[in-house]
Amino acid sequence: MEDALLTKDPYVKVALNVPLRASFDYKIPKALAYRHHIRPGMRVKVPFGNGDRQSIGLVIETSTQSDFSDAQIKPLTALLDDSPIIPQELFDLCAWAARYYHHPIGEVFFHALPTSLRKGESADFRTETWWFVTEPGLQTNIDDLKNAKQQKAFLEAIQQHAEHGLSPHLISVLELTTNAAKGLEKKGLVRSEQRNLKRTVETHAHQTQVPPSLNLEQAAATKTILAMRNEFGVALLDGITGSGKTEVFLRVIEALLQEDKQVLVMVPEIGLTPQTLRRFESRFNTDIVLMHSNMTDRERLDAWLMIEHGDAKIIIGTRSSVFIPTANLGLIIIDEEHDASYKQHEGFRYHARDMAIKRAQGQNIPVLLASATPSYESLANALQKRYLWLKLRQRAGEAELPQMERVDLRGQSLKQGFSEYTLERMRQTLERREQVLVFLNRRGYAPTLMCHQCGWIAACDHCDVNLTVHKRANKLHCHHCDSHKPLTQECPECHSNELFTVGEGTEQVEGVLNQYFKQTPVLRIDRDSTQRKSALTQITQKIHEHDQAILVGTQMLAKGHHFPNVTLVVIMDADVGLFSSDFRGMERTAQLITQVAGRAGRSSKRGHVLLQTYHPDHAAIQCLCEQGYEALAMDGLRERQQLALPPFHHQVVIRAESQQEQQAMGLLMHLRNELSVHLSDDMQVVGPYAAIIVRKAGQHRALLSIKSPQRGNLHRVIASASRWLEQNTKNHKIRFAIDVDPLET
Ligand code: ADP
Ligand code: ZN
Ligand code: ZN
Repeated sequence: MEDALLTKDPYVKVALNVPLRASFDYKIPKALAYRHHIRPGMRVKVPFGNGDRQSIGLVIETSTQSDFSDAQIKPLTALLDDSPIIPQELFDLCAWAARYYHHPIGEVFFHALPTSLRKGESADFRTETWWFVTEPGLQTNIDDLKNAKQQKAFLEAIQQHAEHGLSPHLISVLELTTNAAKGLEKKGLVRSEQRNLKRTVETHAHQTQVPPSLNLEQAAATKTILAMRNEFGVALLDGITGSGKTEVFLRVIEALLQEDKQVLVMVPEIGLTPQTLRRFESRFNTDIVLMHSNMTDRERLDAWLMIEHGDAKIIIGTRSSVFIPTANLGLIIIDEEHDASYKQHEGFRYHARDMAIKRAQGQNIPVLLASATPSYESLANALQKRYLWLKLRQRAGEAELPQMERVDLRGQSLKQGFSEYTLERMRQTLERREQVLVFLNRRGYAPTLMCHQCGWIAACDHCDVNLTVHKRANKLHCHHCDSHKPLTQECPECHSNELFTVGEGTEQVEGVLNQYFKQTPVLRIDRDSTQRKSALTQITQKIHEHDQAILVGTQMLAKGHHFPNVTLVVIMDADVGLFSSDFRGMERTAQLITQVAGRAGRSSKRGHVLLQTYHPDHAAIQCLCEQGYEALAMDGLRERQQLALPPFHHQVVIRAESQQEQQAMGLLMHLRNELSVHLSDDMQVVGPYAAIIVRKAGQHRALLSIKSPQRGNLHRVIASASRWLEQNTKNHKIRFAIDVDPLET
């Protein structure tokens, strides 16, 4: 009979964290093959590149043969795991993602792993050695230990701690030595034990609060979702702001926890995790873990392990948590599913919502997408009955939807962007000791610095954009490449010192409102004011402490916050995005306005929204104010269908960038010619064209867009494109990226 071990494959194909669309072959050394069963999903150490450099890789498959000659193949250096570190379903998900997004498979796998595992650290909780006294040790008289001062001290201490033993911490506090412990161990007087170290992740378990009774819509939605819980399916919970979507999550989760299942709740931003966490804590007496980029490597690994082992039942995480292995996942919830931050905008450009749906399909579990402003993609799927469409059209409790009012700015004299009418309404609101929220999606003091004498404008040296003035930091800042310069007082062209700013940012508006409303605290929420950890929490705390207050902020304000005393929302510039060259401009504007507006009147007092606009009669603004987001979205979808735009046609954008002006464009021109033989009639190729901001961080950027109603055809073309691009960019002077289902074009 043949030994099963001897039939093992002699080669492995390994994925490495490199930007190449290939796997790499290595020989399995005989000694290793005899002792271990090497399987896909295990990590190995392999020589890669020049010299003795070693890399960590992940085994993709074992194989009986290789395309390379035996002499060319190096043996792998070490096997790092006893068993696969990711389960089959996640392995398959990553492999699918590499194909779907045409991204190098090694980078996909490594993106899915926590940093410590990428570096080759052990996929285990840390352990520490505890010492316990044995029965003979307990009976021993200390004075019988002759000439062993250290051992005497140790034995004495451990006899006193006979019940709980000595931890490394206690050993060091008591100034004992582990050498003494080892000596005593030889005499059979003490024994050691490896214990899992207390995890670095905080877990949260709290006393449960009595839930409100659901209204009819909420109850119906909950029932429907629970009925789907044993198989794959997607439900779109389309509920207006404040309709109690989170309450529906909580009910569904409660039922799943009773079946001992895990639930993954995805949120778009780290800023939202503490808030969501608090709400969940007050309801469930179970371990909840957070997963986001503000954690240390060790914290992330521990959280990852707890989830993988099934210790954590509820996981609240941002984009990359879609890749965490679970023990018994029962549901994935994607909150604010329309949010663009679910799409990674560089490197491996995946969409976490779409990945979650694919994952759920593989694991045969449901997905719940939730939003007050669903993406047009999800609405199209709901219309086509691929998703179950659950609508919540009433605000929960006593709250009502706010009234939307347009403020015509034409011919008005404005005070730093505010009309007289707007200011008066703000005054009235504050007099009632209520709060006002002012939304302006531009941080900094002003978007432009200009010279009165010669017209010079401060521009970035590396990008084709103007620099933003940040007065408080005394800087000119590029919001595209993050570079900055000191705020100059003198024009570099004509040396005049008559420099002035054009336009307003949140920093300026904050200052202006401080002057107008001297008695009222003005709180700014944007990326600048919330840089410090926990700054956002502090600001929101202040908001809750004061009755009368003005909040000024960017889109950070739009995301899920609950400020019960805000009754007036001012949208300073509703026209941004109305005339955008991006076909998604209107969708984004409508989402942002609706979400910001939704911060008004979330408790018993009715809310009002003022939209300042120069185009009060614009069809979209009118539709949004009078009929709401859904009506606007239905119009938008009809238009997308007529124009053969996503989500009706699938799109892939190939991006190229080069230091030299024409190289990126030239490459894509060349590619377009190469592809022409592969294109079918239903495909539409646009470009290459220059990016809206052509030069960014010193790179000239060009795009080529390919659309098709058929995904299959499109993927075949992109596959040949990526092969061609890889071969023709080997000199590394030009970088390219393939963006499947792009959000930016
Ligand atoms: P959404 O997630 O849709 O914006 P939330 O779940 O945050 O809405 O609910 C808005 C507010 O209404 C919260 O303060 C919540 O506690 C409350 N709420 C939700 N459902 C009910 C209900 N059935 N009865 C009373 N209050 C409710
Ligand atoms: Zn000048
Ligand atoms: Zn720049």
